[in-house]
Amino acid sequence: MASIQAPKGTYDVLPPEAERRSILESHVHRIFGGAGYRRIETPAFEATELFARGVGSATDIVQKEMYSFDDGGGRSMTLRPEGTAPICRAYIEHGMHKLPLPVKFWYLGSFFRAEQPQKGRYRQFWQVGAEVIGAGGPETDAEIILLLAELLDAMGVKGTRLRLASLGNPETRIEYRDELTAYLRAHASELSVEVRARIDLNPMRAFDASDRGTQAVMANAPKLLDRLAPDDAEHFDQVKTLLDAAGIRYELDPTLVRGLDYYTRTLFEFTSDALGAQSGVGGGGRYDRLIEQLGGQPTPGIGFAAGIERILLAGAEQPIAPDPVDLFVIVGDRENRRAGVAGFELAREARQAGLAAQLELGARSMKGALKHADRINARYVAIVNDEQSATLKDMDTGEQQDLEAIRVIATILRGSRLA
Ligand code: AMP
Repeated sequence: MASIQAPKGTYDVLPPEAERRSILESHVHRIFGGAGYRRIETPAFEATELFARGVGSATDIVQKEMYSFDDGGGRSMTLRPEGTAPICRAYIEHGMHKLPLPVKFWYLGSFFRAEQPQKGRYRQFWQVGAEVIGAGGPETDAEIILLLAELLDAMGVKGTRLRLASLGNPETRIEYRDELTAYLRAHASELSVEVRARIDLNPMRAFDASDRGTQAVMANAPKLLDRLAPDDAEHFDQVKTLLDAAGIRYELDPTLVRGLDYYTRTLFEFTSDALGAQSGVGGGGRYDRLIEQLGGQPTPGIGFAAGIERILLAGAEQPIAPDPVDLFVIVGDRENRRAGVAGFELAREARQAGLAAQLELGARSMKGALKHADRINARYVAIVNDEQSATLKDMDTGEQQDLEAIRVIATILRGSRLA
Protein backbone atom coordinates (compact mmCIF):
# COMPACT_ATOMS: atom_id res chain seq x y z
CA MET A 1 0.00 0.00 0.00
CA ALA A 2 1.32 3.48 -0.81
CA SER A 3 2.44 5.38 2.27
CA ILE A 4 0.96 8.76 3.19
CA GLN A 5 3.13 11.83 3.42
CA ALA A 6 2.85 15.13 5.28
CA PRO A 7 0.92 17.76 3.26
CA LYS A 8 2.90 20.01 0.94
CA GLY A 9 4.38 22.97 2.78
CA THR A 10 4.27 21.24 6.18
CA TYR A 11 7.00 19.24 7.89
CA ASP A 12 7.68 17.14 10.94
CA VAL A 13 9.72 18.50 13.82
CA LEU A 14 11.84 15.46 14.70
CA PRO A 15 13.47 15.17 18.13
CA PRO A 16 16.88 16.74 17.26
CA GLU A 17 15.10 19.72 15.73
CA ALA A 18 12.71 19.88 18.69
CA GLU A 19 15.77 20.20 20.95
CA ARG A 20 16.95 23.25 19.04
CA ARG A 21 13.51 24.76 19.46
CA SER A 22 13.60 24.14 23.20
CA ILE A 23 16.84 26.08 23.35
CA LEU A 24 15.21 28.95 21.46
CA GLU A 25 12.24 28.83 23.81
CA SER A 26 14.49 28.99 26.86
CA HIS A 27 16.14 32.12 25.44
CA VAL A 28 12.68 33.63 24.89
CA HIS A 29 11.75 32.87 28.52
CA ARG A 30 14.94 34.44 29.76
CA ILE A 31 14.97 37.56 27.55
CA PHE A 32 11.27 38.40 27.47
CA GLY A 33 10.41 36.98 30.90
CA GLY A 34 13.25 39.03 32.34
CA ALA A 35 11.69 42.18 30.88
CA GLY A 36 8.28 41.39 32.38
CA TYR A 37 6.60 39.88 29.31
CA ARG A 38 4.33 36.93 30.03
CA ARG A 39 3.30 34.09 27.77
CA ILE A 40 -0.11 34.08 26.09
CA GLU A 41 -1.69 31.38 23.94
CA THR A 42 -4.71 31.87 21.73
CA PRO A 43 -6.64 29.26 19.68
CA ALA A 44 -5.28 27.87 16.42
CA PHE A 45 -8.41 29.10 14.64
CA GLU A 46 -10.54 32.20 14.97
CA ALA A 47 -13.60 33.75 13.35
CA THR A 48 -12.58 34.77 9.80
CA GLU A 49 -14.02 38.22 10.51
CA LEU A 50 -11.22 38.87 13.02
CA PHE A 51 -8.56 38.72 10.34
CA ALA A 52 -10.66 40.49 7.71
CA ARG A 53 -11.05 43.40 10.15
CA GLY A 54 -7.73 43.12 11.94
CA VAL A 55 -5.25 42.33 9.18
CA GLY A 56 -7.15 44.21 6.46
CA SER A 57 -9.38 42.78 3.75
CA ALA A 58 -7.19 44.19 0.94
CA THR A 59 -3.99 42.47 2.12
CA ASP A 60 -2.42 39.45 0.39
CA ILE A 61 -2.86 37.45 3.58
CA VAL A 62 -6.61 37.90 3.71
CA GLN A 63 -7.17 37.81 -0.04
CA LYS A 64 -5.08 34.80 -0.94
CA GLU A 65 -3.41 33.06 1.95
CA MET A 66 -5.99 32.08 4.55
CA TYR A 67 -7.17 28.57 5.30
CA SER A 68 -10.83 29.26 5.95
CA PHE A 69 -13.54 26.70 6.55
CA ASP A 70 -17.12 26.37 7.64
CA ASP A 71 -17.27 25.10 11.21
CA GLY A 72 -20.31 22.99 10.44
CA GLY A 73 -22.70 25.56 11.86
CA GLY A 74 -22.51 28.07 9.01
CA ARG A 75 -19.74 30.14 10.64
CA SER A 76 -16.55 30.89 8.75
CA MET A 77 -13.41 30.08 10.71
CA THR A 78 -9.76 30.60 9.72
CA LEU A 79 -6.55 28.93 10.82
CA ARG A 80 -4.65 31.87 12.30
CA PRO A 81 -2.24 33.43 9.76
CA GLU A 82 -0.71 35.76 12.37
CA GLY A 83 -0.77 36.46 16.09
CA THR A 84 -1.45 40.14 16.68
CA ALA A 85 -5.17 40.29 15.84
CA PRO A 86 -5.96 37.26 18.08
CA ILE A 87 -4.03 38.76 21.00
CA CYS A 88 -5.82 42.08 20.61
CA ARG A 89 -9.10 40.15 20.50
CA ALA A 90 -8.12 38.40 23.75
CA TYR A 91 -7.12 41.74 25.32
CA ILE A 92 -10.56 43.18 24.58
CA GLU A 93 -12.51 40.01 25.41
CA HIS A 94 -10.91 39.63 28.85
CA GLY A 95 -11.20 43.31 29.76
CA MET A 96 -7.45 43.59 30.18
CA HIS A 97 -7.63 47.38 29.99
CA LYS A 98 -8.48 47.12 33.71
CA LEU A 99 -5.03 45.65 34.41
CA PRO A 100 -2.10 47.95 35.13
CA LEU A 101 -0.99 49.05 31.66
CA PRO A 102 0.79 48.25 29.55
CA VAL A 103 0.22 44.50 29.31
CA LYS A 104 3.22 42.75 27.83
CA PHE A 105 2.95 39.36 26.15
CA TRP A 106 5.09 36.90 24.31
CA TYR A 107 3.86 33.91 22.31
CA LEU A 108 5.25 30.98 20.44
CA GLY A 109 3.13 28.77 18.23
CA SER A 110 2.27 27.68 14.73
CA PHE A 111 0.58 29.76 12.06
CA PHE A 112 -0.89 28.94 8.68
CA ARG A 113 -0.69 30.60 5.29
CA ALA A 114 -1.55 29.11 1.88
CA GLU A 115 1.70 30.23 0.26
CA GLN A 116 3.85 28.62 -2.41
CA PRO A 117 6.26 26.54 -0.32
CA GLN A 118 10.02 26.98 -0.71
CA LYS A 119 13.05 27.03 1.56
CA GLY A 120 12.12 29.14 4.58
CA ARG A 121 8.49 29.41 3.49
CA TYR A 122 5.91 26.91 4.63
CA ARG A 123 2.17 26.56 4.93
CA GLN A 124 2.35 25.72 8.59
CA PHE A 125 5.21 27.62 10.21
CA TRP A 126 6.14 28.75 13.70
CA GLN A 127 6.51 32.22 15.03
CA VAL A 128 7.75 33.71 18.24
CA GLY A 129 6.39 37.16 18.91
CA ALA A 130 5.70 39.79 21.53
CA GLU A 131 3.10 42.51 21.98
CA VAL A 132 2.89 45.51 24.28
CA ILE A 133 -0.63 46.89 24.60
CA GLY A 134 -1.42 50.17 26.32
CA ALA A 135 1.90 51.99 25.91
CA GLY A 136 2.39 54.53 23.15
CA GLY A 137 5.78 56.03 23.94
CA PRO A 138 8.87 55.63 21.74
CA GLU A 139 10.75 53.77 24.50
CA THR A 140 8.33 50.86 24.00
CA ASP A 141 9.18 50.74 20.29
CA ALA A 142 12.89 50.77 21.07
CA GLU A 143 12.49 48.12 23.78
CA ILE A 144 10.68 45.66 21.56
CA ILE A 145 13.31 46.07 18.82
CA LEU A 146 16.08 45.65 21.37
CA LEU A 147 14.59 42.46 22.82
CA LEU A 148 14.20 40.92 19.36
CA ALA A 149 17.80 41.88 18.55
CA GLU A 150 18.90 40.16 21.79
CA LEU A 151 17.01 37.01 20.88
CA LEU A 152 18.54 36.86 17.39
CA ASP A 153 21.93 37.44 18.92
CA ALA A 154 21.44 34.71 21.53
CA MET A 155 20.53 32.30 18.72
CA GLY A 156 23.64 33.29 16.79
CA VAL A 157 21.67 34.51 13.76
CA LYS A 158 24.25 35.60 11.25
CA GLY A 159 24.34 38.65 8.98
CA THR A 160 21.39 40.47 10.47
CA ARG A 161 20.35 43.89 9.29
CA LEU A 162 17.63 46.06 10.74
CA ARG A 163 15.51 48.20 8.46
CA LEU A 164 13.52 50.95 10.10
CA ALA A 165 10.80 53.33 8.96
CA SER A 166 7.80 55.23 10.17
CA LEU A 167 4.42 55.07 8.50
CA GLY A 168 3.06 58.04 10.42
CA ASN A 169 -0.71 58.01 10.73
CA PRO A 170 -3.30 56.78 8.22
CA GLU A 171 -4.37 60.33 7.26
CA THR A 172 -0.81 61.35 6.35
CA ARG A 173 -0.50 58.12 4.44
CA ILE A 174 -3.54 58.79 2.28
CA GLU A 175 -2.26 62.27 1.44
CA TYR A 176 1.17 60.86 0.69
CA ARG A 177 -0.22 58.14 -1.53
CA ASP A 178 -2.05 60.76 -3.60
CA GLU A 179 1.13 62.81 -3.88
CA LEU A 180 3.19 59.78 -4.94
CA THR A 181 0.58 58.67 -7.47
CA ALA A 182 0.52 62.16 -9.02
CA TYR A 183 4.33 62.17 -9.16
CA LEU A 184 4.40 58.75 -10.87
CA ARG A 185 1.76 59.85 -13.38
CA ALA A 186 3.82 62.94 -14.22
CA HIS A 187 6.80 60.65 -14.95
CA ALA A 188 4.83 57.78 -16.48
CA SER A 189 6.83 57.71 -19.71
CA GLU A 190 10.09 57.04 -17.82
CA LEU A 191 8.68 54.11 -15.79
CA SER A 192 8.73 50.39 -16.63
CA VAL A 193 5.55 48.98 -18.11
CA GLU A 194 4.93 46.95 -14.97
CA VAL A 195 5.21 49.86 -12.58
CA ARG A 196 3.11 52.04 -14.87
CA ALA A 197 0.33 49.45 -14.85
CA ARG A 198 0.29 49.42 -11.04
CA ILE A 199 0.43 53.16 -10.31
CA ASP A 200 -3.05 53.23 -8.86
CA LEU A 201 -3.01 49.76 -7.34
CA ASN A 202 0.26 49.93 -5.45
CA PRO A 203 2.40 53.02 -6.06
CA MET A 204 4.82 52.02 -3.23
CA ARG A 205 5.98 49.03 -5.28
CA ALA A 206 7.75 51.45 -7.61
CA PHE A 207 10.44 51.85 -4.92
CA ASP A 208 11.38 48.17 -5.31
CA ALA A 209 11.66 48.24 -9.14
CA SER A 210 14.91 46.98 -10.62
CA ASP A 211 14.93 48.84 -13.97
CA ARG A 212 17.08 51.94 -14.27
CA GLY A 213 14.41 54.25 -15.64
CA THR A 214 12.10 53.67 -12.70
CA GLN A 215 14.99 53.82 -10.23
CA ALA A 216 16.05 57.22 -11.58
CA VAL A 217 12.51 58.52 -11.17
CA MET A 218 12.24 57.07 -7.65
CA ALA A 219 15.47 58.65 -6.48
CA ASN A 220 13.68 61.99 -6.52
CA ALA A 221 10.23 60.74 -5.55
CA PRO A 222 8.61 62.16 -2.42
CA LYS A 223 9.24 60.00 0.67
CA LEU A 224 6.71 59.33 3.39
CA LEU A 225 9.44 59.81 6.03
CA ASP A 226 9.72 63.46 4.88
CA ARG A 227 5.98 63.99 5.13
CA LEU A 228 5.35 62.81 8.69
CA ALA A 229 3.14 64.95 10.91
CA PRO A 230 5.24 66.78 13.57
CA ASP A 231 4.26 64.49 16.48
CA ASP A 232 4.92 61.36 14.41
CA ALA A 233 8.30 62.75 13.32
CA GLU A 234 9.22 63.53 16.92
CA HIS A 235 8.20 60.04 18.05
CA PHE A 236 10.36 58.52 15.31
CA ASP A 237 13.33 60.73 16.22
CA GLN A 238 13.19 59.54 19.80
CA VAL A 239 13.00 55.87 18.72
CA LYS A 240 16.18 56.43 16.71
CA THR A 241 17.89 58.20 19.61
CA LEU A 242 17.08 55.30 21.95
CA LEU A 243 18.32 52.71 19.46
CA ASP A 244 21.52 54.73 19.02
CA ALA A 245 21.95 54.80 22.80
CA ALA A 246 21.55 51.01 22.91
CA GLY A 247 24.11 50.58 20.14
CA ILE A 248 21.61 49.01 17.75
CA ARG A 249 22.49 49.68 14.14
CA TYR A 250 19.71 50.26 11.63
CA GLU A 251 19.16 51.49 8.10
CA LEU A 252 16.38 53.91 7.42
CA ASP A 253 14.24 52.46 4.68
CA PRO A 254 11.51 54.78 3.46
CA THR A 255 10.26 52.02 1.17
CA LEU A 256 9.69 49.46 3.91
CA VAL A 257 6.21 48.06 3.55
CA ARG A 258 4.83 45.08 5.36
CA GLY A 259 1.88 43.00 4.30
CA LEU A 260 -0.46 43.96 7.08
CA ASP A 261 -2.74 46.97 7.10
CA TYR A 262 -2.78 47.79 10.77
CA TYR A 263 0.56 49.50 11.19
CA THR A 264 1.05 53.12 12.30
CA ARG A 265 4.26 54.97 13.13
CA THR A 266 7.30 52.73 13.74
CA LEU A 267 7.85 49.81 11.38
CA PHE A 268 10.87 47.51 11.40
CA GLU A 269 12.23 44.34 9.91
CA PHE A 270 15.29 42.20 10.56
CA THR A 271 16.74 40.38 7.58
CA SER A 272 19.63 37.93 7.45
CA ASP A 273 22.17 37.57 4.66
CA ALA A 274 22.44 33.91 5.63
CA LEU A 275 18.97 33.28 4.20
CA GLY A 276 18.17 33.09 0.51
CA ALA A 277 15.25 34.78 -1.18
CA GLN A 278 13.15 34.60 2.00
CA SER A 279 15.49 36.87 3.94
CA GLY A 280 13.00 38.30 6.48
CA VAL A 281 13.71 36.90 9.94
CA GLY A 282 11.23 38.94 11.88
CA GLY A 283 9.55 42.28 11.97
CA GLY A 284 6.74 44.28 13.34
CA GLY A 285 5.50 47.70 14.18
CA ARG A 286 3.11 49.92 16.02
CA TYR A 287 -0.64 49.49 15.62
CA ASP A 288 -2.26 52.34 17.51
CA ARG A 289 -5.64 52.00 15.76
CA LEU A 290 -6.07 48.23 15.81
CA ILE A 291 -7.72 47.70 19.20
CA GLU A 292 -10.33 50.31 18.34
CA GLN A 293 -10.86 48.70 14.96
CA LEU A 294 -11.62 45.43 16.74
CA GLY A 295 -14.20 47.04 19.01
CA GLY A 296 -12.09 48.08 22.02
CA GLN A 297 -11.24 51.48 23.49
CA PRO A 298 -8.60 53.46 21.57
CA THR A 299 -5.39 51.84 22.85
CA PRO A 300 -1.88 51.98 21.44
CA GLY A 301 0.04 48.78 20.77
CA ILE A 302 3.23 47.49 19.25
CA GLY A 303 4.61 44.05 18.50
CA PHE A 304 6.72 41.82 16.33
CA ALA A 305 6.74 38.28 14.98
CA ALA A 306 9.81 36.30 13.94
CA GLY A 307 9.91 33.02 12.05
CA ILE A 308 11.30 30.14 14.09
CA GLU A 309 12.39 28.15 11.02
CA ARG A 310 14.30 31.14 9.71
CA ILE A 311 15.96 31.86 13.06
CA LEU A 312 17.13 28.24 13.13
CA LEU A 313 18.20 28.31 9.46
CA ALA A 314 20.27 31.47 9.92
CA GLY A 315 21.33 30.72 13.50
CA ALA A 316 24.43 29.08 14.84
CA GLU A 317 24.50 25.36 15.56
CA GLN A 318 23.78 25.05 19.26
CA PRO A 319 25.68 22.40 21.18
CA ILE A 320 23.01 19.98 22.27
CA ALA A 321 23.80 18.05 25.42
CA PRO A 322 22.48 14.48 25.26
CA ASP A 323 19.77 13.71 27.81
CA PRO A 324 21.43 12.23 30.89
CA VAL A 325 20.49 8.68 31.81
CA ASP A 326 21.26 7.83 35.43
CA LEU A 327 19.89 4.34 35.38
CA PHE A 328 18.98 1.75 32.76
CA VAL A 329 16.94 -1.17 34.09
CA ILE A 330 17.11 -4.60 32.47
CA VAL A 331 15.02 -7.54 33.60
CA GLY A 332 17.29 -10.58 33.48
CA ASP A 333 14.66 -13.20 32.83
CA ARG A 334 11.73 -11.85 30.89
CA GLU A 335 9.76 -15.05 31.46
CA ASN A 336 9.76 -14.28 35.19
CA ARG A 337 6.73 -12.05 35.63
CA ARG A 338 7.61 -11.13 39.22
CA ALA A 339 11.03 -9.98 38.12
CA GLY A 340 9.25 -7.98 35.41
CA VAL A 341 7.18 -6.20 38.06
CA ALA A 342 10.27 -5.57 40.21
CA GLY A 343 12.12 -4.01 37.21
CA PHE A 344 9.14 -1.87 36.29
CA GLU A 345 8.81 -0.68 39.90
CA LEU A 346 12.51 0.03 40.18
CA ALA A 347 12.44 2.35 37.14
CA ARG A 348 9.32 4.09 38.45
CA GLU A 349 10.68 4.61 41.93
CA ALA A 350 14.02 5.80 40.58
CA ARG A 351 12.22 8.50 38.58
CA GLN A 352 10.23 9.47 41.67
CA ALA A 353 13.52 9.83 43.51
CA GLY A 354 14.63 12.31 40.84
CA LEU A 355 16.80 10.03 38.72
CA ALA A 356 16.55 9.86 34.93
CA ALA A 357 15.68 6.20 34.62
CA GLN A 358 14.73 4.13 31.60
CA LEU A 359 13.43 0.61 31.37
CA GLU A 360 14.57 -1.73 28.60
CA LEU A 361 11.49 -1.83 26.35
CA GLY A 362 13.02 -3.29 23.22
CA ALA A 363 12.96 -7.00 24.18
CA ARG A 364 16.70 -7.16 23.48
CA SER A 365 18.96 -9.99 24.58
CA MET A 366 21.09 -9.23 27.67
CA LYS A 367 24.06 -8.47 25.40
CA GLY A 368 21.97 -6.20 23.17
CA ALA A 369 20.47 -4.40 26.18
CA LEU A 370 23.89 -3.69 27.68
CA LYS A 371 25.10 -2.41 24.34
CA HIS A 372 22.07 -0.11 24.19
CA ALA A 373 22.76 1.16 27.73
CA ASP A 374 26.24 2.02 26.59
CA ARG A 375 24.93 3.79 23.47
CA ILE A 376 22.60 6.05 25.48
CA ASN A 377 25.41 6.78 27.96
CA ALA A 378 23.69 5.31 31.00
CA ARG A 379 25.67 5.88 34.19
CA TYR A 380 24.40 2.74 35.89
CA VAL A 381 22.69 -0.42 34.70
CA ALA A 382 20.58 -2.48 37.07
CA ILE A 383 19.91 -6.06 36.04
CA VAL A 384 16.94 -7.29 38.00
CA ASN A 385 17.52 -10.98 38.55
CA ASP A 386 14.33 -11.83 40.41
CA GLU A 387 11.82 -10.25 42.74
CA GLN A 388 14.46 -9.19 45.25
CA SER A 389 17.95 -9.16 43.92
CA ALA A 390 19.69 -7.08 41.35
CA THR A 391 23.13 -6.53 39.91
CA LEU A 392 24.20 -2.92 39.69
CA LYS A 393 26.87 -2.01 37.20
CA ASP A 394 28.78 1.28 37.10
CA MET A 395 29.18 1.92 33.38
CA ASP A 396 32.14 4.29 33.84
CA THR A 397 34.33 1.88 35.78
CA GLY A 398 32.76 -1.43 34.77
CA GLU A 399 32.55 -2.41 38.45
CA GLN A 400 29.49 -4.32 39.56
CA GLN A 401 27.90 -5.64 42.71
CA ASP A 402 24.99 -7.84 43.65
CA LEU A 403 22.59 -6.23 46.05
CA GLU A 404 18.98 -6.21 47.16
CA ALA A 405 16.79 -4.53 44.55
CA ILE A 406 15.48 -2.06 47.15
CA ARG A 407 19.02 -0.77 47.75
CA VAL A 408 19.69 0.16 44.11
CA ILE A 409 18.32 3.70 44.28
CA ALA A 410 20.01 4.62 47.55
CA THR A 411 23.30 3.27 46.26
CA ILE A 412 23.11 5.41 43.13
CA LEU A 413 22.01 8.50 45.09
CA ARG A 414 24.97 8.11 47.42
CA GLY A 415 27.05 8.07 44.27
CA SER A 416 29.24 5.58 46.00
CA ARG A 417 31.64 3.69 43.83
CA LEU A 418 30.66 0.09 43.65
CA ALA A 419 32.99 -2.06 45.64
P1 AMP B 1 4.85 38.50 9.00
O1 AMP B 1 3.79 38.11 9.97
O2 AMP B 1 4.48 38.27 7.58
O3 AMP B 1 5.43 39.83 9.28
O4 AMP B 1 6.04 37.47 9.25
C1 AMP B 1 6.92 37.59 10.32
C2 AMP B 1 8.00 36.55 10.17
O5 AMP B 1 7.43 35.25 10.14
C3 AMP B 1 8.77 36.64 8.85
O6 AMP B 1 9.84 37.53 8.98
C4 AMP B 1 9.24 35.23 8.67
O7 AMP B 1 10.40 35.00 9.43
C5 AMP B 1 8.13 34.42 9.25
N1 AMP B 1 7.19 33.90 8.21
C6 AMP B 1 6.16 34.56 7.63
N2 AMP B 1 5.54 33.77 6.74
C7 AMP B 1 6.20 32.59 6.74
C8 AMP B 1 6.04 31.34 6.06
N3 AMP B 1 5.07 31.15 5.17
N4 AMP B 1 6.93 30.35 6.32
C9 AMP B 1 7.91 30.52 7.23
N5 AMP B 1 8.10 31.66 7.91
C10 AMP B 1 7.26 32.68 7.69
